[in-house]
Amino acid sequence: MSLLRITPSIHSSVSSRLLRLSIFLLLSLPDSKGKATGAAHLNITVQVGNRIISESGENGVFGYHSPLETVSGVVVIPEGWTQHACNPMTNFSRPERADSWLALIERGGCSFTHKINMAAEKGANGVIIYNSPGTGNTAFPMSHQGTENIVAVMIGNLKGMELLHLIQKGVYVTIIIEVGRMHVPWLSHYVISLFTCLAATVAYLFLYCTWRPRVPNSSTRRQRQIKADVKKAIGQLQLQVLKEGDKELDPDEDSCVVCFDIYKPQDVVRILTCKHFFHKACIDPWLLAHRTCPICKCDILKT
Ligand SMILES: [Zn+2]
Ligand SMILES: [Zn+2]
Repeated sequence: MSLLRITPSIHSSVSSRLLRLSIFLLLSLPDSKGKATGAAHLNITVQVGNRIISESGENGVFGYHSPLETVSGVVVIPEGWTQHACNPMTNFSRPERADSWLALIERGGCSFTHKINMAAEKGANGVIIYNSPGTGNTAFPMSHQGTENIVAVMIGNLKGMELLHLIQKGVYVTIIIEVGRMHVPWLSHYVISLFTCLAATVAYLFLYCTWRPRVPNSSTRRQRQIKADVKKAIGQLQLQVLKEGDKELDPDEDSCVVCFDIYKPQDVVRILTCKHFFHKACIDPWLLAHRTCPICKCDILKT
């Protein structure tokens, strides 16, 4: 009975722990902001004299806090010794004929937010940040909280240096940034969470099934109770040790109907309420199994 009282509390404690674990994993997984990031498709147009060369490719990644929208303009680099645009005095020399311009800035020296805000304050319509030297053409979604009103993309170092050298030579470069394939972080996040919940459910069911057979059902409990009552009733039945002269030892008397042996002096017999008697060693296991006298079928629990 104590098991019956304890088991449901174990179940509820295990299930609540699993639930808490699932919620913890759900909240602690990376990038739980659920913000979609997109690949940036760059249409680059280079004007050399009268020649116009165009190139396009998905070689950028929108920042986490960037609007996902198309923006275009002439590409402008910071003036000065470095291309980091960290100094508040940094100036961008935009061509006079350009209505819209995009700042091309090198990664490093200060935060992405700082660089993007610097370009936005100077009037840029978008910001292209190229990765640090030695990183090849790898780019990743930048985190730049507080700059949600301006498009910001990252491109690889090699592409950035190529554009920088062209602009430094006085070449007029324009870029149209468009939204490419969408990468939805919450989708993988959702799948991981789903698997976590599934694993927790499976673990709970496994534990429940492991414990369940140990919980007796009502019919098992009833049988146990009857067995206990039978044992108690057997204990209350009279016992007698046979001795010379007892009428039970008369050769004309019946033998034990359980073992068919005749009674001998010193035999211990159990006398039932119906007055039938048998060897104690024979009748006790019989009564445990049948509850009734082997001769008259009288029920020891009813008499
Ligand atoms: Zn017997
Ligand atoms: Zn009897």
